[in-house]
Amino acid sequence: MLECVFCRIAGHELPARVVDEDREFMAFHDLHPVTPVHVLVIPKKHVDSLAQWSRADPALAGRLLIKVRDLAVELGVSESGYRLVINTGYEGGQTVSHLHVHLLGGRPMQWPPG
Ligand code: AMP
Ligand code: ZN
Repeated sequence: MLECVFCRIAGHELPARVVDEDREFMAFHDLHPVTPVHVLVIPKKHVDSLAQWSRADPALAGRLLIKVRDLAVELGVSESGYRLVINTGYEGGQTVSHLHVHLLGGRPMQWPPG
C-alpha cells in the first residue's frame, strides 16, 4: 500500500507531526485541525476502514482504544473532555482510506455532527 498516504507516514516516507509511535500504532497531528487538539491515530498495518478490519485480533482494537485514551491524557484533554470519530466509507465522510481515529478536543463541541 505504498500509495497510501497514511502508510507512507507510518513508514516515515512522508513527514508528519508525530505525537506517539509504537510497534502497532502511530499518532500524528491532523494537517487541517478542526479543534485545538486534533490527532489521528492509525494502526500501522494497512486496513481500508473499520468496515474491513479483521476479526482475527480483537485485542488490537482494544489496544487502539486504550492508546487513544492515554493520548488524551498526554494531550491534556482527558479532564475537559474529547471526542473520538472514525469516519467510515462514503456516507461516513471518510476521505483517507486507511483506518484512523480522530481524537478531537480543546473546545466544546456540538451534537449531532453535520
Ligand atoms: P477522514 O475524512 O476521516 O478520512 O479524515 C482524513 C483526515 O486526514 C483529514 O482530517 C485530513 O485533514 C487528514 N490528513 C490528510 N492528509 C494528511 C497528512 N498528510 N497528514 C496529516 N493529516 C492528513
Ligand atoms: Zn495505508
